[in-house]
Amino acid sequence: MSESSSVAGLTHDITSGLDPARLADFYRDLHRHPELAFEEHRTAARLTDRLRAAGLQVTENVGGTGVVGVLANGDGPVVLLRADLDALPVTEATGLPYASTVDGVMHACGHDLHVTWLASAAACLAAARDTWSGTLLVVGQPAEEDGDGARAMVADGLHTRFPRPDVLFAQHAAPGVVGCYPHTPGLTMSAADDIDVVVHGVGGHGSRPESTVDPVVTAAYIVTRLQTVVAREVAARDSVVLTVGEFHAGTKSNIIPAEARLGLSLRTQDGAVRARALDTIERIVRSECAAAGCPAPPDVTVRSGYPVLVNDAALDTEIAAVHRELFGADTVFDFGPLMGSEDFSRLAPDGVPYDYWYVTTTPPDVWAAAPGDGLMEKFARVPSNHSPAFAPDLAALVPGVRTLVGAALSRLV
Ligand code: ZN
Ligand code: ZN
Repeated sequence: MSESSSVAGLTHDITSGLDPARLADFYRDLHRHPELAFEEHRTAARLTDRLRAAGLQVTENVGGTGVVGVLANGDGPVVLLRADLDALPVTEATGLPYASTVDGVMHACGHDLHVTWLASAAACLAAARDTWSGTLLVVGQPAEEDGDGARAMVADGLHTRFPRPDVLFAQHAAPGVVGCYPHTPGLTMSAADDIDVVVHGVGGHGSRPESTVDPVVTAAYIVTRLQTVVAREVAARDSVVLTVGEFHAGTKSNIIPAEARLGLSLRTQDGAVRARALDTIERIVRSECAAAGCPAPPDVTVRSGYPVLVNDAALDTEIAAVHRELFGADTVFDFGPLMGSEDFSRLAPDGVPYDYWYVTTTPPDVWAAAPGDGLMEKFARVPSNHSPAFAPDLAALVPGVRTLVGAALSRLV
């Protein structure tokens, strides 16, 4: 028997007692009560209850509303499993009987599924602790949607107050007919950064530009010159998007304002390319302000950045093999890298491998009714994450526990 088949066999054994009705109850309760980033008190409490009942040592309020559960079970690696807790400012339009009861807030990204999967995987592993050895580290992370949650947990001692992970796993609900487990061995998600720029000029009368430093003209030069970040600073083989989505200045046509504000969005897929793009943006902004004679240097603030997510290729290949064994060869395929972003990789200490995959959740009838023939055509037409119509099929509940248990056991036995 190969190693992956023994892992898959054990996974099957220790998850065979899962009760789909009990999983669905837990999920529907979370779905009815969504909470925004860093306000996930009820969600964190529900996860804490489940982990304590399973016998884990649980610490609450790590990095705000984060939850850390530890099950030390003898010699072996420390395996971290993570779910994110937060919902979105979206008004639910699914019409489901268990739709959100909170006005304007919805679990539109499936993080309620993630919490259900994580709580149940931890319970299965805890109940079967005589079959494996090592330490299970379970993380309920706040505020994935604003990009600050993972950073907050690390800053609050995730790697110093708790066992340091040797490997990390997470998964995300995704569009696609329920029953697929896409894996990408390598670059999976892009880095995203918002950059706020304030240009400080000298305001005055529109008829006397000689007595002012015009921040509108200066900011216009900045916007134009920023186009050279992609065109002249980045190699053609690298993917970068730089968008100036905000340009605010002035109140009246005959007043030269004292300041201008720009809002930039940068997406990159490589750490070195990201660093160079950020350096170049700062250099251009500062130099244009100096060229204009601004009385004070500009403010350049990089905020809510997401890092790139790059799966360890060997680890991903191994976990994908376990998932193929569990669910069938044609259920695991490669989406390729997305321009979307996720802060999971921040939970990994430098150099520690991690793996992140998708669990598809579109109900079969919704998938069949979507226009188009090919996978990508239908994929574009079914409700996606962040849509008010995002309504995962509950048939994904049990498999999403098995994917996590299988990944954990690949390192714990
Ligand atoms: Zn999301
Ligand atoms: Zn999400």
